[in-house]
Amino acid sequence: MHTPLCGHAVGDPLDYAKAAHANGIDVITITCHIPMEWEAFGQAGTRMQLVELEHYMNMVSTAAIEAKGFGVEVLCGIEAEVYPDASHMDKMDIVLSNDSFDFVLGSLHAHCRSYLLWLEQKNVTSDAAKIDWYFKHLMEGVQSGRYDSMSHPDVIRTYGVVQNFEPAAHEAIIREFLQAVVDQDICMEINTSGLNKGAHQIHPDPLIIDWASEQGVKLTIGSDSHEPRRVGEHFDEIQPWLRSKGFTKLHYFRRRHRQCIEMPEAKVSGS
Ligand SMILES: [Zn+2]
Ligand SMILES: [Zn+2]
Repeated sequence: MHTPLCGHAVGDPLDYAKAAHANGIDVITITCHIPMEWEAFGQAGTRMQLVELEHYMNMVSTAAIEAKGFGVEVLCGIEAEVYPDASHMDKMDIVLSNDSFDFVLGSLHAHCRSYLLWLEQKNVTSDAAKIDWYFKHLMEGVQSGRYDSMSHPDVIRTYGVVQNFEPAAHEAIIREFLQAVVDQDICMEINTSGLNKGAHQIHPDPLIIDWASEQGVKLTIGSDSHEPRRVGEHFDEIQPWLRSKGFTKLHYFRRRHRQCIEMPEAKVSGS
């Protein structure tokens, strides 16, 4: 979940913690977007600035102290980027060298300008090639060791970067990506925000979740909330559904160490 510092979210971390409490969730991780220059994204004001990072950390730790009072643990994470452009990564690594994060997400926002430029420069024009490259870059991100979990791993299907996304046509490269997640011993995120977007499907696609189950991928779960009322959205339906696909555990990270919890069973109606 995010903070107003990224310019496209609302609510203080404490508001997110209160929403979590109201939904029966006792641990949340704030993962606002890592600071990057707006030129990389093609739109001003959609990421926090580097000078705001300290304020971000303070805001989360202040919320953590207050939320402890009503039984919610608030952890401090960051949603970092995965880009093929090394010059962006160098700047990001300086931020990631800050060792006070609990959790680092790895996201390839394929609709951001620097990635669209990369595709253009390499003359990657067909949907099929774009999707293959996307998962290849995501896999290289996994192997870089920067991240604890790979977030919304098929977000390329949204925001118009490709017109058609059929995971079955890219099974080999997607399975390679999933295997890298297993080999690197990190997690993949189940991101329920996809259910609110045009495609009305979870991230990643259910077929990718089936492959992840087969391959033994460990999961984190996120609602990617950009407003407090979305905290934990769809978790009640998704958790039993994940159980039906063979997953029994969920994970979160404290001080970059993986914590394992039992996935809640389906709620019994009337209880
Ligand atoms: Zn955002
Ligand atoms: Zn994201």
